[in-house]
Amino acid sequence: MKLKKWLLLSYLIVMILPIVVAYILFAWINSYNNDQKVREYFETTIELQNVKEVLEQPKLYHPSSDKSKIKQLESDQLSISLYNPDGLIIYTSTPGLSLTALGKEDMYENLYSLEQGYQAFTYRQPVFNKQQLIGFFHVEVARNEWKSNVFSRSLFMFSVFLGLFLLIYLTVVRLVNRKLNVRLSSLMEDMTVFASGKPIKQKETNNDEIGILQKHFYRMSDQINEAQETVQKEQRDKEFMVATISHDLKTPLTSIKAYAESLHNEQELSVREREEYREVIVQKSDFMKQMLDDLLTHTLLQSPSYELELVSVDANEFFDMIISGYEPLCKEKNIQLHAYANVSGTVEVNPKQMMRVADNLMSNAIKYSYECSHLWIVAASSQEGLPELFSFVDRSKLDFDQFIYFIVQNEGVGISETNLDKVFNPMYQVDQARSKKDEHGTGLGLSITKQIIEKHGGHVHVASNEDVGTTVLCAIPKQKAGGKNNNEN
Ligand code: ATP
Ligand code: MG
Repeated sequence: MKLKKWLLLSYLIVMILPIVVAYILFAWINSYNNDQKVREYFETTIELQNVKEVLEQPKLYHPSSDKSKIKQLESDQLSISLYNPDGLIIYTSTPGLSLTALGKEDMYENLYSLEQGYQAFTYRQPVFNKQQLIGFFHVEVARNEWKSNVFSRSLFMFSVFLGLFLLIYLTVVRLVNRKLNVRLSSLMEDMTVFASGKPIKQKETNNDEIGILQKHFYRMSDQINEAQETVQKEQRDKEFMVATISHDLKTPLTSIKAYAESLHNEQELSVREREEYREVIVQKSDFMKQMLDDLLTHTLLQSPSYELELVSVDANEFFDMIISGYEPLCKEKNIQLHAYANVSGTVEVNPKQMMRVADNLMSNAIKYSYECSHLWIVAASSQEGLPELFSFVDRSKLDFDQFIYFIVQNEGVGISETNLDKVFNPMYQVDQARSKKDEHGTGLGLSITKQIIEKHGGHVHVASNEDVGTTVLCAIPKQKAGGKNNNEN
């Protein structure tokens, strides 16, 4: 239940329930009182019969008559007064009552009726002797027991009401405390712990307002933790990259310096030697340039705001151009190259960056190929256009409805299963020593490739088996007739 409804309901209970309880108690005590009154009335009527028999005797109304019989009737409860026909008191058992007359009107009021007052029952009756009025008697039966009963019943009712009221109040206070205070304090505690940078233990939440607040806070803390972890990871990656790049730049720079100093200082160098030294300097400078270029591209691609400029081109023409020009490099290692494009339609690409992708993949493929092996560089837009892929590549997973596949496959050392996940990490190289022997190798090639293909709206997949070879599949979205890439709709 929502907290607002719950609070309104508890207010209603605190207000209404005591009123209902009071009403029930009042009704109960009232009906009990009525029963008591009837019982008391009849008891008093019976008691009055004896008194009346005595007081109806005419001789008692003579001023000098013997009143001892009346005195026998009297008690704490019962008081008797006698009046002459004019309303003057002849006799009274009430000590404080002075011998004053009763008014005629009062005298003749409520005769023969037993009147029930809060303090006492009263009864007045005229007495006749031979048809002549000789006086009145007035009897009062005090209701002491009734009064004390009323008092104890009222006390009981008040105690029950107070008890029930306290019970309702304390129950509601306890419930409100459990539902509101405890949970809010726990949330505040969690917030304080989180603000002090310590981890929080997430508790179960429900669907009311505080529960939703808790959920939002937990989600927010998760997001902040994730963001902090990302920032820390990025920071670590950057530090690692700067350290690696500086180290990798230091080696060619030291060579360049040494060769340049030799060229400058050693006069007796032959023309051939000088030529060789210059070549080394140019080679090392190219390597450094390439390295810095890779670093710049990598940094640029990492920025989420950096968008590649894509142009729409004829797919077959474009991939024909991309896959050409690698024969000389392959020949150096006696590698048999299979290069063909079998694609239809148009595709949106950034030509310069796609050439970089092809260069990166081909440089890897050639670098890690065996001598006299086979190497494929193929673009295909259907199953039929595919080359003979290694058995560990699942052809059925390729989605030709959405993508064109640019594939580079080579027979060679391959990549172990444990390293396969990491090859896209920047600066990651499976065999550092072997990679570094090569003049070009910072471990950024595949990371850059992945980012370029993703900026095209595609994805890269690597499949490899050690000592068999490696297949890199780049999926590039097909362009629809309307001009939009397939995965953008
Ligand atoms: P760079 O590309 O920056 O010159 P690199 O080639 O070492 O350096 P990546 O292209 O990112 O870096 O490749 C990462 C690692 O993946 C390589 O060091 C290599 O160990 C492994 N690798 C990539 N392609 C292949 C392949 N075709 N065969 C075997 N191993 C490969
Ligand atoms: Mg590479």
